[in-house]
Amino acid sequence: MKKTILMMIGLSFLCSQPAMAMPDSELFPRNETFDINECQRWTDEIRDFGVSKKDKAEKVTVLMYHRIVPEDSISRIHKQYNGNLISEVILQSDFQEQIEFLKEEGYTTLTLKELEMFIAGKLAIPKKSVVLTFDDGFIENTLEVAPTLRANGFNAASFVITGAVRKEDYEYDPGKYQYYTLEDMQNSCDIFEFESHTYHFHKRTNRDKAYLVALTSDLIKKDIATSIYNLDGNKQAFAAPYGAYNNRVVSILKDLGIHMAFTVNPDDVVPGTTNIYEIPRREVKPDDSLDDFKEKIGFEE
Ligand SMILES: [Zn+2]
Repeated sequence: MKKTILMMIGLSFLCSQPAMAMPDSELFPRNETFDINECQRWTDEIRDFGVSKKDKAEKVTVLMYHRIVPEDSISRIHKQYNGNLISEVILQSDFQEQIEFLKEEGYTTLTLKELEMFIAGKLAIPKKSVVLTFDDGFIENTLEVAPTLRANGFNAASFVITGAVRKEDYEYDPGKYQYYTLEDMQNSCDIFEFESHTYHFHKRTNRDKAYLVALTSDLIKKDIATSIYNLDGNKQAFAAPYGAYNNRVVSILKDLGIHMAFTVNPDDVVPGTTNIYEIPRREVKPDDSLDDFKEKIGFEE
């Protein structure tokens, strides 16, 4: 009996977070960059949406995704012990439906700079706006997400565990946790803005505490600074692994000059209320229906 309970705890622990199985020796070099400055220029532009007073949004939803997997590639690692999909996995067909809905309804996807301006009360955005974010930097972002977004004229933010990025190409295996290669980043640089999700601190201690709240400020600062270096000095945004952060993390981000940070608190973003270092996000779940999705983005018929 005791054994079963322990096993269930172990399994739910495994299933509730993507494994960062990367051995230290295989980490992306700390002193090299992804060379993405050129292809990320578009993320600096702030559009004038020309919205009238009555059409401008008072709030916006930031959606959070992890992995988008085609139905025929689903295997044991994508499932919980009860057979349901783990919360990080969304079927490609569901994702496609959500994106096509946004397209049909005339939604705009904001860049993070535009979101920053909106939160500061300096940019009027259309009511039908949304921000798409993808955590961890899974290879499926290039294979499944980018083509779907590109076909519909949308963009998104990708929070990358920069140490997990590979320099060399490798064979895709949907049954594994695989992260971007440098080539993947180049190939989807027109769709994703690449932001920090730590260098190698997407981890928990053996007491199950997230590194960001358990380790010393020096180590945390060094790790995040390394990720910024890999990202060619991009300091636009940060997302805390597992959504675990505290005041100490916020002051490290400020020290490093990072503009904004994202949590996993499910709420809307409201200028005047939302703290720029604690921006809420609503996670899209594998069992969400299209109606659930509409509710998450605050869609009104
Ligand atoms: Zn993550």
